[in-house]
Formats: sequence, C-alpha cells, structure tokens
Amino acid sequence: MPSGQAGTLREVIRAATATLAQAGVASPRADAELLAAHAAGVDRSRLAVLELSGHRLPDADAARYHELIAARARRVPLQHLTGTAAFGPVTLQVGPGVFVPRPETEALLEWAYGVLEHAGPSPVVVDLCTGSGALALALAERHPGAAVVAVDDSAEALEYTRRNAAGTGIRIHRADVTAAGLLPELDGRVDLLVCNPPYIPEGACLEPEVADHDPHHALFGGPDGMSVIPAVAALAGRWLVPGGAVGIEHDDTTADATVAVLRRAGVFGDIVARTDLTGRPRFVTAVRSGPDNSRREDDA
Ligand code: GLN
Repeated sequence: MPSGQAGTLREVIRAATATLAQAGVASPRADAELLAAHAAGVDRSRLAVLELSGHRLPDADAARYHELIAARARRVPLQHLTGTAAFGPVTLQVGPGVFVPRPETEALLEWAYGVLEHAGPSPVVVDLCTGSGALALALAERHPGAAVVAVDDSAEALEYTRRNAAGTGIRIHRADVTAAGLLPELDGRVDLLVCNPPYIPEGACLEPEVADHDPHHALFGGPDGMSVIPAVAALAGRWLVPGGAVGIEHDDTTADATVAVLRRAGVFGDIVARTDLTGRPRFVTAVRSGPDNSRREDDA
C-alpha cells in the first residue's frame, strides 16, 4: 500500500469496526481497537491519544492491521491474534491447542479468593483441567504461600501451561482426571480444589470462535455435559481435608445435576449452586465434611 493510503488511525479503526460488525463479531469496536493497539505495538489507552492526534499507522503496521482484521472477520478468536488472554489479574499466553479462558470463570475465581482468605499460611490448591493455567496462576498470585498443583491431560495445552507458569512454583501434572487413583499423595491434603472441566453438551450450537478454534476436547462433556464432573467430585471427596472446599464450573443447564452428583457422594456439606457475572447458573461449591461426616448435606 503506498504511504498514507491507509488513512488516519481513527478512519482505519472505523472501517475495521464496520468490517467486523458485518462478519458477526460480537464486540466489533473493542476488537478493532485492541487489534489496532496490537498492530501498533501500544496499549489500548495510548491508542486513544494517537487517534485524537490524527496519527497514521506506518505502512508496515497498517498492512499488519489489515491482515489481523481479515482474520478476525473470519472469526479467528481475538486472543489467538494477540496471543494473550486476560483472566482476573493475570495475562495468559494462548493460541491453537488450548482453551481461551472466559470471563464467566472469574466468578469461580472470586469465590476461590474468598476460600483462600480463610486458609492458613500454606494451603494446598488444585486446579483440574487447568488448560492455559488460568485459575492456577491467578490463585498462586493471590496466595504466595499456596502449593498449587495444575492438572490437564492435553500435551498441547500443557505447553501453554508450562510457559504461563514459568517462574512460579506451580506443579504441573499431566493426567486424565477421570483416570482411577490419580495422585494418591494428595489424599486428605487439599484445602481448595477448582475445576473448569469440559462441560458443553455434545451437539450444542457454538460461535465459530469456539467451535473452530477451542480444542473440542476442552469443550464437550458428553451428551449431557456431565461426563467429567462426577470424577471431579470423587477426587474432591478423596483429596479434600475436612473443611476443604471444591468449586466446579458447569453448563448453564446442569446446575441441578452437578448439585446431585455432590450430594450423592455423601461426604460434602454446604452444597451451593452459584451464578456467573451475567446471572447464569455457572458453578457449584461444596465443603468436605469432617471424618465423622458431621456436616453432611443430609444433616444440614
Ligand atoms: N463456558 C465455555 C463456553 O461456553 C465452555 C467452558 C467449558 O466447557 N469448560 O464456551
């Protein structure tokens, strides 16, 4: 493109917003701005200043921006294009082969923060189906004394987890959470267990960013979305110390089924179905009863 042909930053962002809106992108303006900031190598707050001052992108950046907008219009996830996803206080590297962390999981994170507030100086925390490591990293950052274990069965996902967890003390373990006898050394030792498992019912209709770019394996939990959750509840029963807490994210159609699984285990009290930031049923929490099962749900 000849120099100056790209127009001012404000003009190219306006045109990009229209392109993305037409492609069905849910937040076209925000995505157009974030990708412009990415192409220009500045953060979004600085972008506003450049826009106001009539700035023009150098040709190389303009060409790069054009490519990014074309990819986003083909519904490649924004986070794959920038290479990062924000989750609570952390920024994770993401891309093909790993699930992009979602804002709805921040509700589970907030609940877990509350648990950590009342934990001792060195709680044991486990994040099952960790993916990029989002929950594990955010929890490790919140409680520097915590011993955090992150588990996933995908070698591809774990490459991102390892990169994201570099320099932290997070222990990463490759395993299928539905496998029998997982990590027996954790039996009766865990203070907090969180899990965002694959839970979408097979056949659900998904946006192209999800259907075509998140790993299928990280999304779908069998015909009813419940193929992994019972195994997570069983591990919570085995691993949690009496008084330890578990929080499991689920599909918005499976709150009752998740509560029922925890209730049936017979070793949890305080079983609570909770909603995400948009008010949808999103996760269930429970507390491991004491050795005498004195806080069992049936007794409550
Ligand atoms: N909440 C995610 C979605 O709707 C699914 C997350 C999952 O299966 N763990 O795309």
